[in-house]
Amino acid sequence: MDISVIIPLYNEEESLPELISWIGQVMSANQFSYEVILIDDGSTDNSWEVVSQLQQKSAFVKGIRFLRNYGKSAALNEGFKAAQGDYIITMDADLQDSPDEIPSLYQMIREGGFDIVSGWKKKRYDNALTKNLPSKLYNYVTGKMSGVKLHDMNCGLKIYRRKVVQSIEVYGEMHRYIPVLAKWAGFRKITEKPVVHQARKYGVSKFGWERFVNGFLDLASILFIGKYGKKPMHVFGLWGSIVFLLGAGIWIYLAIAKFAFMQYKMTERPLFYVGIISLVIGTQLFLAGFLGELITRNSADRNHYNIDEKIGF
Ligand code: UDP
Ligand code: MG
Repeated sequence: MDISVIIPLYNEEESLPELISWIGQVMSANQFSYEVILIDDGSTDNSWEVVSQLQQKSAFVKGIRFLRNYGKSAALNEGFKAAQGDYIITMDADLQDSPDEIPSLYQMIREGGFDIVSGWKKKRYDNALTKNLPSKLYNYVTGKMSGVKLHDMNCGLKIYRRKVVQSIEVYGEMHRYIPVLAKWAGFRKITEKPVVHQARKYGVSKFGWERFVNGFLDLASILFIGKYGKKPMHVFGLWGSIVFLLGAGIWIYLAIAKFAFMQYKMTERPLFYVGIISLVIGTQLFLAGFLGELITRNSADRNHYNIDEKIGF
């Protein structure tokens, strides 16, 4: 199978029929073999009824229904597990992403040998203040911190090589950072392509202000897990030692000052407090490192590495 299209949806009943027939037209015009996996993320409207009707009409449609709303990341993760195509396209269900982009994305990823081609909503039809401006800031910060420089990291429309989606796990709000996760997993050929974007035709956006907070917390987790997930002591131990040695140095100095030069009023010296706090925090960091190591040792995938190829077996 050439392409799996994965579409997470949450209360999008109005858009689905139009979206599916549009995808079907594009796919058959280009003679692709394909499947479309619709993941109903606990919709409370009639989305699932619409999905089942579409499935009965068209054999290429497959549906997965969550019992409750788990979020876009969870939906994508399930879709990734189910996908059978050589290349995987993700797309939003609200008709903001155009299925007409599928052939050119497919051509670009195959000919360029890329791991990911990410869509870039160069001309975007969303609210400037609540969506476009925050998105610029967010893409800038993420690029700086992760080293993955994309104009539109969180674009719903992307194409992946199958191996990429099999090697990563998305949860929380991490769908915003899939290229970063992919980079940590070892997939470095990541590029972008300007794509057509439309205003939302039906319904409302499913993401509110919480996305700012959760989004940045998840970025922090990704960067930490990516770098130190398999060796937490390397970061906690280093900083624990530095802070502890600083505290110890201060206390040695204070002890010499007291006994050799008879300086009193120890508790009135700010340095005294810096010394105590450094010793305590240093020990705490070290302990966090040991705990982290214990947890890593017990985790099932502590020795899981992504293997690209094996020959001669
Ligand atoms: N979505 C989902 N689960 C959620 C929230 C959103 O599956 O909890 C889907 C939603 O139905 C849509 C896509 O994720 O297909 C993008 O959501 P939306 O269009 O609301 O985001 P925006 O375009 O406003 O950033
Ligand atoms: Mg949308």
